[in-house]
Amino acid sequence: MHDDDLKSWSKEDICAHLGDDYDRYLGAIVPPIFQNSLFTRKTKSHGYSYSRVSNPTLEVAERKLAALEEGERALLFSSGMSAITAAIMQHAVKDCHVVTLKSVYTPVRVFLETYMNKFGVETTFVSGEEVRQFEEAIRPNTRLIYLETPLSNVFTLQDLAAVAKLAKSKGIATVVDNTWATPLYQNPLRFGIDTVVHSASKYLGGHSDIIGGVLISDAATVEQMTHRERGMFGAVMDPHQAWLLTRGLRTLPLRMAKHQENARKVAAFLQEHRDVEQVFYPGLPDHPQFELALEQMSGCNGLISFVPKGDKANVARMSRAMTCFEVGPSWGGFESLMNFPGAGIDEEMSERTGIPRGLVRISVGLETAGTIIEDLERGLHAIRQEGS
Ligand SMILES: *Cc1c(COP(=O)(O)O)cnc(C)c1O
Repeated sequence: MHDDDLKSWSKEDICAHLGDDYDRYLGAIVPPIFQNSLFTRKTKSHGYSYSRVSNPTLEVAERKLAALEEGERALLFSSGMSAITAAIMQHAVKDCHVVTLKSVYTPVRVFLETYMNKFGVETTFVSGEEVRQFEEAIRPNTRLIYLETPLSNVFTLQDLAAVAKLAKSKGIATVVDNTWATPLYQNPLRFGIDTVVHSASKYLGGHSDIIGGVLISDAATVEQMTHRERGMFGAVMDPHQAWLLTRGLRTLPLRMAKHQENARKVAAFLQEHRDVEQVFYPGLPDHPQFELALEQMSGCNGLISFVPKGDKANVARMSRAMTCFEVGPSWGGFESLMNFPGAGIDEEMSERTGIPRGLVRISVGLETAGTIIEDLERGLHAIRQEGS
């Protein structure tokens, strides 16, 4: 396949083959790992000098991710957080103002609230369902609107086209964390957003074996950030990590299709269940923003949240009866995983964070749907027994 005409490449083709470049790599079916810090140039330069700036192994994944997001260029970082903080630092100036979401990924909220304020940067947090909320939050010194859609606890959405339009009209930059939908199911640049960031530690890697991040934007921004925010802060991805990321990306379309298929069955099961009070999943027609989800996303992932009936403080007990699900904070891997963001929080905390009391979040893995559903049945049965 020839990469000069990227328009004819499907997302599956990009994941499988973009960047293979057999001629360059001695016919190796998988490009090798360039595990070297520097590139010599006594007689000839090959265009590389130092792996903090560029490395051919990183470029394979970068080319795939730029093409998947329909952006000009991508940059790999050592983690999602380093890609995110780089994007924020790129736009921030002393004493400026940022608008973001109340339920934004917690380390991002903490970074804005307790770190950026030492440079006089102030942040307004909005719930984000209505464009009006952004409009009202904007000040003369607002430099950045930072979005994350869907949000990762109860999956509320922001209207990408409307927020991008508002921001453009005021000369404000927009960054979107697109980790939830992956570049397969949502492409924010299409809606006029300036920059997209992802944690590659979730579905992109997909095997719960790497921490990584990526940023996708126009070529000039990426070129500048290669030397400034990535080059100077130095949070570049390691070549071995990048090689594992490329390996993960090859099966991203297959994995996402299976995660989604399983999640739809599990969401339907939970919705019907007599011990479940409420289910959150943007693929369900009763999600309050279902229409918007259909407009700006072409699919959903394997994350589902629900609130079991009864005792809200002790929902975590259900995991003890379960054998398939493990308990842990991350998501997007091959394994079914759960955590309990709503366990043990009071009304006030629930109000402030937008997390319902008793909320359970599950990351539906690649096991058979029947195995997953049986395990949830065991967990729900266990807390019903305790409650009665
Ligand atoms: C995990 C996550 C991040 C942070 O990524 P790391 O790779 O853990 O640094 C950012 N945003 C979202 C939505 C995440 O789930």
